[in-house]
Amino acid sequence: MKNFSIAIHGGAGTLVKGLMTAELETQYKDALATALEAGYTVLEKGGSALDAVETSVKLLEDTPLFNAGKGAVFTNQGTHEMDAAIMDGKTLDAGAASLITGIKNPISLARDIMEKTDHVFLAGQGAMQFAIKNNYEILTPDYFYDEVRYQQWQGIKDSTTFQLDHSVKKDGKFGTVGAVACDINGNIAAATSTGGMTNKKWGRVGDSPMIGAGNYANNKTCAVSCTGSGEFFIRGVVAYDVSCLMEYKGLSVQEAASEVIHKRIIEIGGDGGLIAVDAKGNITMPFNTEGMYRAFKTSEGEKEIAIYKD
Ligand code: ASP
Repeated sequence: MKNFSIAIHGGAGTLVKGLMTAELETQYKDALATALEAGYTVLEKGGSALDAVETSVKLLEDTPLFNAGKGAVFTNQGTHEMDAAIMDGKTLDAGAASLITGIKNPISLARDIMEKTDHVFLAGQGAMQFAIKNNYEILTPDYFYDEVRYQQWQGIKDSTTFQLDHSVKKDGKFGTVGAVACDINGNIAAATSTGGMTNKKWGRVGDSPMIGAGNYANNKTCAVSCTGSGEFFIRGVVAYDVSCLMEYKGLSVQEAASEVIHKRIIEIGGDGGLIAVDAKGNITMPFNTEGMYRAFKTSEGEKEIAIYKD
């Protein structure tokens, strides 16, 4: 049996330490712990990395604390448009959905797109038709209503601003969720899910559902899930860039991820972070923001649940 491991994130961004109450911090850490343990249990029982990342991300989507699924931010129109992607490092199969509404677990829709169609990426109305055909329940907007997110949106809705749901207002709400895992067979997978940016419009799509930008997995190199200013992560093709640095330059997963997050993405003006795992189960979770909700656990007994830099 090989080493196995899992890492998850609940978004990176600016967070003023003083604004986070001890009670809220506990809630976030508990939510991360629940998602981490559920994914880890899948791996411990010999399950696949793909099942583990889907399991963890679904739980993160089900809490209003994070900007994905139930906690998805408001668009400029007062709606919730969600994006998600999943990738299997063993086969390079991938599935992604964007601009979807009313879906409880966008990550499962992304997985169904991967497994039940010949396509990789479905968007908007077509993605919704696919969901309905596959018996997804379409939830009403009240399921996604959250007072804090509503107030975030009210604060900027008449402006041209759009924002990471946690950055400008510094209100302690972090965003996008993701998971990467390495299973006992040395297969790796990545999953990412988000509501995108508060007040986004014109069908704006970020990096999260874009294979290679916000999400990527390849057994030869690594599995990566990103969070941060999506426009920059798209331009930097960040997740694939980490993989390329490993494949072409021979860097370790830690070296490659650090090079991208602490150098290359900063050079083009981006901020955020990522979680990554290689096929030996090595994990890295770099970020260049004040904090990133994150957690990892390995079969070697290492475990961490953290928010700030230290
Ligand atoms: N990367 C996401 C996006 O741009 C946002 C986030 O990570 O919070 O849609």
